[in-house]
Amino acid sequence: MTTPREIAIKLMEATSMLGDPRAEDPLVPTLSEADYYRIACHMLFVCKRCGTCCTTGDPIKLREDDVRRIARHLRITPSRAMKRYAARRVSETGKSFLAMKHTRPCRFYDQSTKGCRIYEARPWSCRIFPFLGIYGSEDAVKVHTSCPGSIEAVKTLTEALIELKESGYMGTDDPDAVRRARRWFDDALLRLSP
Ligand code: SF4
Ligand code: SF4
Repeated sequence: MTTPREIAIKLMEATSMLGDPRAEDPLVPTLSEADYYRIACHMLFVCKRCGTCCTTGDPIKLREDDVRRIARHLRITPSRAMKRYAARRVSETGKSFLAMKHTRPCRFYDQSTKGCRIYEARPWSCRIFPFLGIYGSEDAVKVHTSCPGSIEAVKTLTEALIELKESGYMGTDDPDAVRRARRWFDDALLRLSP
């Protein structure tokens, strides 16, 4: 298991030399500082199973792939899954998007076990909650105050970073180390995919 200290070291390395072409990796896109922080937080995140997100979250966005995966999981056709569980919604900016039809609570939330009935097939938006749902849209990491796991992950990462800085570690000026760290975060993102 990767420790908070190891994640904090990788984070400091990945965010060193941002904007310096010597550290760029043609195989891995360079993300923003906030994005590396989001991935680091996500790696430290442990769900407390309070159920808040599954019972109050709205909308719960879906991708077409999510509907197909849910259909496979439930052994029904994608068109049936689409009809039963998905609905087109319109964002505040007038953009159409696909989302779960039933929320507050989500149709797949199991109150008795406080868990997801389709956990292995849960949508992408549920996999990346609470840190990566805003991925790429803001320049700061958002702490979801209604999510105890979110608060704890940010606290753990902050403590590990403070400890590192107090020990004198300030990141790296070695482009190879920076590229390795960015690849490491890229791999972590890929592992979230079903
Ligand atoms: S709100 Fe956070 S801690 Fe609670 S169930 Fe959702 S992800 Fe887990
Ligand atoms: S699909 Fe599962 S994880 Fe996602 S909101 Fe519904 S119950 Fe929660």
